Amino acid sequence: MSSHCDRPGLLPVSSALTTLLDAVNPVHESEHLPLHKLNGRVIAESITSPINVPGFANSAMDGYALRSEDNHHQSSLRVIGKSFAGQPFTGQVNQGECVRIMTGAKMPSGADAVVMQENTTVHGDTIAVSEWPKKGESVRPVGDDIAIGSTLLEKGHKLSAIDIGLIASVGITEALVFRPIKVALFSSGDELRQPGEALPDGCIYDSNRRALHALLAQMGAEVIDLGVVKDDKEAIRDAFLRADSQADAVITSGGVSVGEADFIRDVLDEIGSINFWKLAMKPGKPLAFGKLPSSYFFGLPGNPVSSMVTFHQVALPGLRKLSGQQQFTPLRLSAVASKPFRKRPGRLDYQRGLFELAADGSLAVAPHGKQSSGVLSAMSQANCFVVLEAQRGDVEAGEKVIVEPFDEFLKAR
Ligand code: AMP
Ligand code: MG
Repeated sequence: MSSHCDRPGLLPVSSALTTLLDAVNPVHESEHLPLHKLNGRVIAESITSPINVPGFANSAMDGYALRSEDNHHQSSLRVIGKSFAGQPFTGQVNQGECVRIMTGAKMPSGADAVVMQENTTVHGDTIAVSEWPKKGESVRPVGDDIAIGSTLLEKGHKLSAIDIGLIASVGITEALVFRPIKVALFSSGDELRQPGEALPDGCIYDSNRRALHALLAQMGAEVIDLGVVKDDKEAIRDAFLRADSQADAVITSGGVSVGEADFIRDVLDEIGSINFWKLAMKPGKPLAFGKLPSSYFFGLPGNPVSSMVTFHQVALPGLRKLSGQQQFTPLRLSAVASKPFRKRPGRLDYQRGLFELAADGSLAVAPHGKQSSGVLSAMSQANCFVVLEAQRGDVEAGEKVIVEPFDEFLKAR
């Protein structure tokens, strides 16, 4: 590991992720579900195709199915029948003959190409071909899309709407998927009040729990919301024991920073084995991760932006692995800074930015709003993380940076 970019005492995010992903074992219980219940579920076994798609050679065009070799000895072709989708022509196409054919209809035997109707002129029951197709032209061969026995989707793949169409296209009616993970969630802090309640002096609304609840629900987790737990040792122990007994993972926000951590650290040391990390990332330095008797624990920092960033960058890969997923890496793009970014070397920054297509067609990105870890409004207006490597200093306009577009976990689309 290179040392010039590590600050003493701070753990690189990549090391934390490696430890975390090594520690997490996926849930193993699975269930068979019908197609309409599969969206967003993670498959527990690979799916192979029981059929070829297409199952028969068919036309890619509206036109005439013919024998490409007739090019050499025919000036016109006799139309001997029709092949429509679902109503194939059952005869044989011989020399000098063709069959009217529509897109998706079965190729008649004897024919090996389709001429599109725009390249023909009709004279009664014959056609003249102005531009001859080559052998195989405008024909979709058997198994062109999917070959029988081929793997359609790998175990650990999270199913999208398109995937469900794909599964249906091979005639499969259900799939084996992992059960959803159960995640218990609570906030810690005496200052927290609930939306709808009055706000006494010095208190704030508990926003993290609502955002985290939504994020967890969006990733397909079953959320067990345990509310706010007071900064009190007994209350915290009770909350952790209750959470652990019901869930595969426990997520908290607040109470893991230095000075604050005392109660939580004492309780966690009693009932589990937890790492309290100071990560070399900004925002979101303090983070706790470890094992409780029957669940994994992710202790996120309390600052609203820090909790969102650490959830997305650190906790989410762990939760994805727990769900049985095998793909944890977010989409990353290269963009050109259209404005300078302020950055001190030492920590990996996840700044909030706005990217857009520049006039020259390139991707341009600028920092958006206040980069303070308490300013959630700026993050709500942003559309991406700008990932600035630990060793990097200030970024000038015109330099290249890495952009991670906010995905469905952060923004509804
Ligand atoms: P802590 O990590 O508990 O030291 O909290 C850091 C900052 O985040 C403090 O200003 C807290 O008031 C704030 N904070 C903690 N929990 C929440 C929460 N659930 N919602 C919004 N802000 C919070
Ligand atoms: Mg606190």
